[in-house]
Amino acid sequence: MEELVICCMNRRLNDFLEDKYGGAFVVRNAGANVAPLMPLIKQAVREKGIDTITLVTHDDCGAMGKTFAVIKKGAEATDELKDELINQFKAVKFETRNQLEEKNTELQLSALKREFPNITVQAKPAKMSDIKVPEDNKEHKLLVLGPGKPEYSKIFKGLELMHSQCYIVQAPIYNAMPDIELAVKDLHAKEVFFVVSDKDNPRDVKRDADTASLKLTRLGAEVKRYDTRTVRKSFA
Ligand SMILES: [Zn+2]
Repeated sequence: MEELVICCMNRRLNDFLEDKYGGAFVVRNAGANVAPLMPLIKQAVREKGIDTITLVTHDDCGAMGKTFAVIKKGAEATDELKDELINQFKAVKFETRNQLEEKNTELQLSALKREFPNITVQAKPAKMSDIKVPEDNKEHKLLVLGPGKPEYSKIFKGLELMHSQCYIVQAPIYNAMPDIELAVKDLHAKEVFFVVSDKDNPRDVKRDADTASLKLTRLGAEVKRYDTRTVRKSFA
């Protein structure tokens, strides 16, 4: 089975994903929001012989919290975030944040089923109460990685970070700017790491990270680069 997993960037899902979906091709953004990732998902299905797509949403989701605040309470959001994430819920009926989270799962699942009628498409929402995450009051960070296997442990080790303190976006940088900004502005990730692995073209990552860094620095985040290829070399 070749499985593609679309998951939220929430920091409490990192170990769960690595344990449960370690062999899958993973993409992550705010809310497991399919639309901006669709070109990437289509390409992966075509090139990797994917026969199963699994959608991993979850409760107590920061992205849905933001969406709820904007639609129901008039909170502010950038036009990019509205276009990419929030506006799709404007015509949807919900009263509570919990209902919004359920609607999100339904909406993303039906978009996938429409696009991929010939492969297995399933939703496996995660319940935060079932996931054991160590308590921590450490400052939150954001890692931005390319799509692929969720091999997070060695990155956390290399950066000396706790697994549960890092939001993880797994998508091309140019595809995920609203998600990256959401993590910095609304979820208070104070430091952003752009991670280069041996699957990436380092020149592309550098170019996109440079563009993103300008914006993020203006928002007050500290931006760093992390090259896992260097770490691997130094271990050898
Ligand atoms: Zn979430």
